[in-house]
Amino acid sequence: MANPLQRVVVYCGANVGNRPEYREAAIELGRTLAAERIGVVYGGGGIGLMGVLADATLEAGGEVIGVIPEALKALEVEHKRLTAMHVVPDMHSRKAMMLGLADAVIAMPGGFGTLDELFEALTWSQLDYHRKLCGLLNVAGFYDPLIDWINHAVEAGLLKAVNRDLIVHGSRVDDVLHGLRTRPFPLATKWMGR
Ligand code: AMP
Repeated sequence: MANPLQRVVVYCGANVGNRPEYREAAIELGRTLAAERIGVVYGGGGIGLMGVLADATLEAGGEVIGVIPEALKALEVEHKRLTAMHVVPDMHSRKAMMLGLADAVIAMPGGFGTLDELFEALTWSQLDYHRKLCGLLNVAGFYDPLIDWINHAVEAGLLKAVNRDLIVHGSRVDDVLHGLRTRPFPLATKWMGR
């Protein structure tokens, strides 16, 4: 049975990066999600790939919900034209709310913030706190080293292969969305050597 995708939480850089493909992919992702009537939940920033994604989604008529901590709002980096903006007290509340609003995760190229959010979502799935697949949009091979590390961790016996299957990776938006819709959640996911 297909997985419902009413909303996805998108993690992506607060910078645009130095390859045009990153920005192009953010635009394509925003337009595709709007066309497929999949709402976007994200960090609420108006800067970097976050801002590009939000603008592209809104311009295509899509829904964009931001979740921003009070302190970042005060720095005036928040996007001003979203469908809805939730202001929360801190980063922990933000990450929990973003995930709670979404059916699945998509990570675009980004830095520490993006990886922090991605790995928290994966850890929570691994612990069965929630059941949300994580799409990795591997634009221009950006995530190749991370995918290599994940395979290395499985080979080293420190990551279960079944948990690796929580990640759907692909270089194209359509492939990642297809994987998120169709991959069965790895229900055998366990964390204590079982
Ligand atoms: P990074 O990958 O380090 O650029 O951080 C981007 C991720 O962290 C995004 O997915 C956001 O949820 C969050 N984030 C970091 N900086 C900001 C910011 N200035 N405004 C909003 N969200 C941010």
